[in-house]
Amino acid sequence: MDKAKRKAIIAGNWKMNKTPKEAKELLSAMAPLVADADCEVIACVPYVDLATAIEATAGTNIKIGAENCHWAESGAFTGEISTGMLKEIGVEYVVLGHSERRQYFGETDETVNKRTKAALAAGLKPIVCVGELLWERECNITEEVIARQIKLDLWDVTEDELKNVVIAYEPVWAIGTGKTATADQAEEVCAFIRAQLAKLYNQDAADAVTIQYGGSMNDGNADELLSKTNVDGGLIGGASLVAEKFAAIVKAASK
Ligand code: PEP
Repeated sequence: MDKAKRKAIIAGNWKMNKTPKEAKELLSAMAPLVADADCEVIACVPYVDLATAIEATAGTNIKIGAENCHWAESGAFTGEISTGMLKEIGVEYVVLGHSERRQYFGETDETVNKRTKAALAAGLKPIVCVGELLWERECNITEEVIARQIKLDLWDVTEDELKNVVIAYEPVWAIGTGKTATADQAEEVCAFIRAQLAKLYNQDAADAVTIQYGGSMNDGNADELLSKTNVDGGLIGGASLVAEKFAAIVKAASK
């Protein structure tokens, strides 16, 4: 399938930044700048900002996502948020398996898989993050790591459900470090991810999946990264906190 037929998606991952008041200000500044986007535009924001963000983006083309969700419907999981809670307030997307969750909060492929299946069952669209550590790249096992993550994170996800899954390739060494993968490195791994999806499902299903690159993508390098055949969008951390920078990336994806 030709890239133009896949949905290009630019998603901001705000991480632990912006109070509800600041979220409203940022989204209000962003909305007119991305109004003409020819791609999907998403802001994934902290839980406490979600309601404000949904209200602030009503009637705009910005969709709102959460940064995680739990797999249980309810229960004794202090500090966690269920898919039903997100769905009820109008959240559409959810970032899962971000490397910071894996690194600092003990997230494993098994829990990423449970969260992914729960999100899909609730009608949320998961943005499933995969990526190798610097040490793993240096040891030449990037493909092994990615193949394992894709297989485990999507375990038991049906071909029909896959239509609502977005994959974000985020080399861990490039996140928040200012070190971007070269466009060729990003393309190589995104193409590998698509090949893995073709093996696990089939070529048509794999060709329809939006695969984003994430890792210090910004207004200066987005054009080149997004020009690659298998890079269908971006998951943006730092640059998503500045309306003009985020809008420039959205513009690059809209070409
Ligand atoms: C991210 O948090 O997903 C990310 C890619 O961050 P940054 O753009 O800041 O590297």
